[in-house]
Amino acid sequence: MWSLRRPMRGRLWITLAVWCGITAIDARGQTPNWLDPYREPAARLIGEATGDTFAWRRLAILTDTIGHRLSGSPQLERAVEWAVAEMKRDGLENVHAEKVLVPHWVRGNESAEIVEPAHHALVMLGLGNSVGTRTEGVQGEILTVRSFNELESASAQVTGRIVFFNVPYMNYEETVAYRTEGPSRAARLGAVAALVRSIGPPGLRTPHTGALQYAADAPRIPAAAVTTEDADRLQRMADRGGRVVVRLRMEAHFEADAESANVVGELRGREKPNEVVVVGGHLDSWDVGAGASDDGGGCVVTWEALRLMKKLNLRPRRTVRVVLWTNEENGTRGGNGYRDQHANEAANHILSVESDTGVFAPARLGFSGSEAARKTMTEIALLLAPLGMQELASGGGGADIGPISALGKVPMMAYSGDSNRYFTIHHTPADTVDRIDPQEVSKAAASLAAMIYVVADMPQALPK
Ligand SMILES: [Zn+2]
Repeated sequence: MWSLRRPMRGRLWITLAVWCGITAIDARGQTPNWLDPYREPAARLIGEATGDTFAWRRLAILTDTIGHRLSGSPQLERAVEWAVAEMKRDGLENVHAEKVLVPHWVRGNESAEIVEPAHHALVMLGLGNSVGTRTEGVQGEILTVRSFNELESASAQVTGRIVFFNVPYMNYEETVAYRTEGPSRAARLGAVAALVRSIGPPGLRTPHTGALQYAADAPRIPAAAVTTEDADRLQRMADRGGRVVVRLRMEAHFEADAESANVVGELRGREKPNEVVVVGGHLDSWDVGAGASDDGGGCVVTWEALRLMKKLNLRPRRTVRVVLWTNEENGTRGGNGYRDQHANEAANHILSVESDTGVFAPARLGFSGSEAARKTMTEIALLLAPLGMQELASGGGGADIGPISALGKVPMMAYSGDSNRYFTIHHTPADTVDRIDPQEVSKAAASLAAMIYVVADMPQALPK
């Protein structure tokens, strides 16, 4: 078999190589003439980004020397000061912090344990914005459900129980409702606390925090996430019948709103400085891990677009503005604040760009905008062929660019890493820089810099 197949494999390889070669030539041939002046600067930006690990090293400094950055924490304010100083060091213009008041939720000490049928400590994280428990904790019999429908069917049994949402992870969008809405749905039926299976693929006993949203018409009950392993154990215990009792202790509470800021830096446009391409990520994070993928990396790779242009002496026609938004995780006050403070120039925003789903391979660029805008963006993306990223996917939105983009009807682009790898560490103690490949950070910076440069410089503004 082997001797017969080898020549075939060889021929297939040659055929593929020829086919790819032809495709590459065709792609170059199809690139519209208007892009010709951008081949060289795009290649220089890509070369500068991928020839260095600067972006990863900057992310490592942020996450090692400051760490995680929850809204209201001293670390977030240190990160704001650090980013302002670093942007100035890069030679960016109009560098400043725009004040925003943010909620200040504090986790405090917390624990959970199974007390019946046998004692087991649970690896848990309280959900962001949750209330705490009394000092002695809340203890109750678990009611395990696998969907909101199951909860409704069991509504007569909910009073006095701790409702446990053990919903297998499908994808973030479909599963996250159990974290955000689950606690209030359980409370409305009389539950005293809620537990959720962590919203993410199975990890290594990593609990995932994240915000809950209390409904106005339900009592506020404490809520926490448990690991997938502990969730499976609770499920096995429930399936055997008999009582499963859990005790939960949480000191979580809100303090008064705190001052924070969006960090802003620019490369002013040489011809049309009032037209703006805004790019960025969010500087705040949860209070576990180091906020490396969520979203220190997004901050750094978008900011790189400006640093690289500055370094290569490429000043586009329009202004490129980097904004490191605050408070994305538990309030979106940064994104809303930016919209409010820049409402008078919202319509002058040509494109908004966010990176907030990591840079893990295989990554992609997504775009949301009119058909005319997509056509232009698809043509520009042909310049990313050396990175293998010339396909422009759909889905260009982001929580921080959403508000200004809605107000100014601004097309949006997003850089998105592989969602399975990202959501395995998302909002966990495992969101650290060591998991991120420096080359993947450089590639993200390279693709963003080339796209952003062309959009900011091309003679005609991107159609809306
Ligand atoms: Zn994020």
